[in-house]
Amino acid sequence: MNDQEAWDRGVRLMEKIHDRLPHDPRQQLEAVLTGYRRRKEEMLALTVAGGSTGICRACGGQCCLNGKYRFSGLDLLAVLAQKTPLPAPDFTQKPLCPYGDAGGCRMPAPVRPLDCVLFICEAIADRLEEPTTHTLARLEQELRQSVKRAETLLGRRLGQPLLLLAEHPDGTDVARRDVTN
Ligand code: SF4
Ligand code: SF4
Repeated sequence: MNDQEAWDRGVRLMEKIHDRLPHDPRQQLEAVLTGYRRRKEEMLALTVAGGSTGICRACGGQCCLNGKYRFSGLDLLAVLAQKTPLPAPDFTQKPLCPYGDAGGCRMPAPVRPLDCVLFICEAIADRLEEPTTHTLARLEQELRQSVKRAETLLGRRLGQPLLLLAEHPDGTDVARRDVTN
């Protein structure tokens, strides 16, 4: 199975999980995902306010190489729940991330992979001050709690990469692979 096939299979798996959810768990999941999207947006807004856009432009997106495993099952569920189209990944542009292009990341803030939202490199961290750093730490903790809540609700390791979940549709736990693959 190549990356595109794994992606397509992962999307179908998450659609099936989402569509088959009974009413009450679905409502509970929606509540978790609403907070999950909002907090991602808040975190990215705080780093942009701290000057990340200019720093990232100068850096050329060094942290956006080999990013294919960053998009998790939960990240996809957060998109499905919104019924908004997701930019199609391009796995042929390796080592560039399949979810970005020359203009930067193509994933809107609320649906950007959690790993990318949480990653704050040294160059950006050096520019951040209180109370922003305190707020970012709180948001990170809340986002990690959202992942745990959703995983408990659905009984699946949804925080794992979508491409790996696609290979284990029965919900078997999978170990994260070398991101350079
Ligand atoms: S977050 Fe840091 S490493 Fe990533 S593109 Fe921006 S400056 Fe570069
Ligand atoms: S999803 Fe976006 S932010 Fe994350 S590695 Fe890819 S291009 Fe960079």
